[in-house]
Amino acid sequence: MRKRRKVVVGVDMGATHIRICLLTGDGQVLITDKERTRPVIAEGLAKGLTAFIKRHLAGLEADVAALMIGFPASIGRDKKTIISVPNLPCDAGEFTGLAPCLEAEFFCPVTFERDVNMQLYYDVTEEKIADKLVLGCYLGTGFGFGVWLNGGPYVGAHGVAGELGHIPLGDPAARCGCGNPGCLETLCSGAALARWYAAAPRDYPLTELFTHGRYEKSLMEFIDLGAKAIATGINLFDPEYVLLGGGVMDMADFPYDRLVEQTGVFTRKPLPFTALTFAKASSSSFNGAIGAARMGLDMPVRRHF
Ligand SMILES: [Zn+2]
Repeated sequence: MRKRRKVVVGVDMGATHIRICLLTGDGQVLITDKERTRPVIAEGLAKGLTAFIKRHLAGLEADVAALMIGFPASIGRDKKTIISVPNLPCDAGEFTGLAPCLEAEFFCPVTFERDVNMQLYYDVTEEKIADKLVLGCYLGTGFGFGVWLNGGPYVGAHGVAGELGHIPLGDPAARCGCGNPGCLETLCSGAALARWYAAAPRDYPLTELFTHGRYEKSLMEFIDLGAKAIATGINLFDPEYVLLGGGVMDMADFPYDRLVEQTGVFTRKPLPFTALTFAKASSSSFNGAIGAARMGLDMPVRRHF
């Protein structure tokens, strides 16, 4: 009889899409795939997630050695408690007991992680800079930020460190999705850009916003605000590498050079300014799911193989 193989499953749960990666025990990617989030979880989060993962295991004759799921959320230090998820289309109550429920379904350890940290995990392993102090700045729907310190993501005393998107550098009159007034994300995020685009008639699609509008004052201010936030992170942590990425930075004609230049303006001299390396994070939308699976593989569950 053929021996059943073991795989590690990484899931990246976003507001619009849910992505999955299956890894073999030696780190080879078996499958990456995505589906729309709402239909997947329409009949409940636990039930929908279970069915989604099982659909991708079908026909593989594989057991799951570890399951790592990333959420756009604050995750507790126990890596099983989801503290706050402002952006997912499900009730907060559905997160209670989710980890034990999935552990019972798949007979394996289940770990939750903040989605930015999975992306960061992917990028530092890909760039081979896991031994460095690295900041990851991901400008997507929100302003994602992660700190790579001492060989792993720094999560703080309660698991919620690194929320640069929620420093009070935004519009004081606007309320953020987190509930606080004036967070950075109210002005500096993909969502804020989309609101800016929709506020006036434009003769170009949102995806060409930087091609047509890059010299508009409000977009220049958007970049400068992002630079101030990133420089704040740099001045606090004194990193060796700063990774810049996310859907907004992947847009056509995004003024990446100006962002780096302006970040330098606000960074302390001579150090860390003179010793910083900026790098563009790679842009595949599956990086988070692959990062999650790699994280699952690198955790102590290796003994399962
Ligand atoms: Zn906030």
